Amino acid sequence: MSFDALALRREFPLFAAVPAPFHYLDSAATSQIHGAALDALVRHESTRRANVARGTYRLAEAATAAYEEARAAAARFLNAADAGEIVFTSGATAALNLVAGAFGATLQAGDEVIVSLAEHHSNLVPWQLLRDRTGVVLRFLPLAADGRIATEALPAMLTPRSRLIALTHCSNVTGALTDVPAVVAAARAVGARVLLDGAQRVQHGPVDVQALGVDFYAFSGHKCYGPGGVGVLWGRGEALAALPPVVAGGGMVGEVTPERTDFAPPPQRFEAGTPPIAAAVGLGAALDWMAGLPWPAIHAHERALLDRLLRGLAGLPGLRLLGPADAAARHPIVSFDLAGLHPHDVCQVLDRHGVALRGGNLCAQPLMRHFDVAGANRASIAPYTTAEDVDALLAGLADAIRVLT
Ligand code: PMP
Repeated sequence: MSFDALALRREFPLFAAVPAPFHYLDSAATSQIHGAALDALVRHESTRRANVARGTYRLAEAATAAYEEARAAAARFLNAADAGEIVFTSGATAALNLVAGAFGATLQAGDEVIVSLAEHHSNLVPWQLLRDRTGVVLRFLPLAADGRIATEALPAMLTPRSRLIALTHCSNVTGALTDVPAVVAAARAVGARVLLDGAQRVQHGPVDVQALGVDFYAFSGHKCYGPGGVGVLWGRGEALAALPPVVAGGGMVGEVTPERTDFAPPPQRFEAGTPPIAAAVGLGAALDWMAGLPWPAIHAHERALLDRLLRGLAGLPGLRLLGPADAAARHPIVSFDLAGLHPHDVCQVLDRHGVALRGGNLCAQPLMRHFDVAGANRASIAPYTTAEDVDALLAGLADAIRVLT
């Protein structure tokens, strides 16, 4: 199956706007926005702009319908049982904090939340805050030497007090995919819920939350070809219904008196205030566009580029790969350490080659510590990435090693 990445690239306005040479290898931080998502956002702001779920005039009804259609698109993308299971947030971070706040409010001191040492700070620090506020116990799943989450250690860690297992679906450092069936099986044995941080998974195709069997799923629009400022928390219907609100304001209430308030059912219970309406509409368009892509061919394309990159990196002096050395059970995110070189210096040399590369602690300091480095460089591959991008990276890295050592 062949896939034309160059043709796809032309559907992304940014690539026409930035002068060559330009090799964007930082889609794990933010993917580029697809033209359909941008058009939907602009069309909404220029033809249907009004607040949602409030006005009774036609413009407001059109805005509400577009916003609810975006919710339906997110439900289709995740194969959620019902659009009411989709909560729009400002991003994955807000979605994860929402679960920490709302699910956390149902926990007692001594109840246990399990995370791993490979989490992005967004799925670690909210749980530390919860622990410090409530006495919930935070436990850490260990990692294999290559950074994979050692899910085989989970059954022995779980106790009758284990309430939630919160893990990344795909590591933002190594690209490794978590063994979700193993996690769900272990969680079910003790009645714990499972939250997946899907921030890095969603740009590689639709997800089936029902097949995964998890309870909560979080992701950001700006990492899956949609606008920034919007994200999704999916929660299984009965799991969401059991949670109290954490942020209060307009739109999430039933009857309000000076003394007390009835709360609306989900998802409105968790969407206080005016939501990111146009961004949600743009995200809905991005998700619908993604749903129509030839994913098996795209995955073959990404796999070929990943192999090309791993082969090229293996030939560079002083380069240590952080993460699995093969292309199996991972998405195309590759982090590495260059002996004696600061990741930011490497990025600066690469920028002279027109290569946009990430460097730093990658918001995953415990994982950096596991690898015994302060920071790393990271290249991430998306459907619009080409072999020329990978080759420019490899040439730029060879140059960086030459000029910086
Ligand atoms: N989790 C993971 C695995 C991520 O990679 C990121 C973004 N780098 C986040 C959560 C947070 O996403 P956002 O900044 O869009 O809220």
